[in-house]
Amino acid sequence: MTEKIVKTPEEWKKLLNPDQYEICIKHGTEPPFSGKYNNSKFDGAYKCVCCGEELFSSDTKFDSGSGWPSFWKPISEDKIEYISDTEHGMARTEVNCNKCGAHLGHVFDDGPKPTNSRYCINSISLQHEKDNNG
Ligand code: FE
Repeated sequence: MTEKIVKTPEEWKKLLNPDQYEICIKHGTEPPFSGKYNNSKFDGAYKCVCCGEELFSSDTKFDSGSGWPSFWKPISEDKIEYISDTEHGMARTEVNCNKCGAHLGHVFDDGPKPTNSRYCINSISLQHEKDNNG
């Protein structure tokens, strides 16, 4: 079992910048092609910007053309919390950090083999392990 981190929205507000708060805590979406990791090719792990948990590996990152960083699987399934999302008139699966509950993005079933999954993730929700600037 993942040990959970639980904070109130007020506590997160003090820890995050306004963009991070809007995406991760208020379940927002960054504009496509705006994020710093959309085209990034760094080797290594992409961590949750809120709690530092390693979520996705560069080995599974691919160019989906969607405008958001995309991965075909997480580092392990227990890193991710899956939530059915019917907002905006669409049936989608929301993906959150399983450790702290931060909103990451959505997963779709039109990704590449071998999983056919496309984890469509906001850059703002992530921090690459070699990136110390937040
Ligand atoms: Fe997290």
